[in-house]
Amino acid sequence: MTDFFDYHTHNWNKENAFISVKMEVLADKIALPSNSKFFLEYHPWNLPSEYSGVDEEFYSLAESEAVFGIGEIGLDKLKIAKTSLQVQLAYFEELVKLAARLNKPIMLHIVRAWDEARKILDKYKLPQIYFHGFYGKIEFLRELLNYGMIVSLNPKMLERAELYDFLRANGAYEGRVKLESDDSDVDLSCLYAKFYERLRNGGNK
Ligand SMILES: [Zn+2]
Repeated sequence: MTDFFDYHTHNWNKENAFISVKMEVLADKIALPSNSKFFLEYHPWNLPSEYSGVDEEFYSLAESEAVFGIGEIGLDKLKIAKTSLQVQLAYFEELVKLAARLNKPIMLHIVRAWDEARKILDKYKLPQIYFHGFYGKIEFLRELLNYGMIVSLNPKMLERAELYDFLRANGAYEGRVKLESDDSDVDLSCLYAKFYERLRNGGNK
């Protein structure tokens, strides 16, 4: 992986990236850009209001070699008007269980539901957990890193001086804190450059 690896994008053409794609897209056998990996997504924003189980097609695609990991998957308390937390939890657990059985990593989307997510994650053994779009308190970041995750940051986190203080004081974590473009077309090499620059320069702009 390169230095400027994009830890989460939905852009199917992106090189050097973890690309989250929907099953309809992957079923069309799109080509994998160089140095990238596909994650098969079951986005918590797209869940139905009633639980009816993960689609059969998802199961068969998830097993294919083209699929490196499962996600983004997760829980989002800002979306409970559309899909109750109970239904989100049922899908989430089914998907985590599938990833554990296939021994594939997962890409997490968790909004205000870490305690609930952790209860499920604790029950399964996964080769790696990626937490995407992190924006929150440093103590929460520390907790995710202590859990063994690789965390990619929402670009807004890069404005927070305490992020750099934390990473400088905890050098061992630095290699597991990454960046992502998600739905934006931000230039990741610029973003990484800015990130490492501030890390070196004491967090001052
Ligand atoms: Zn995303």
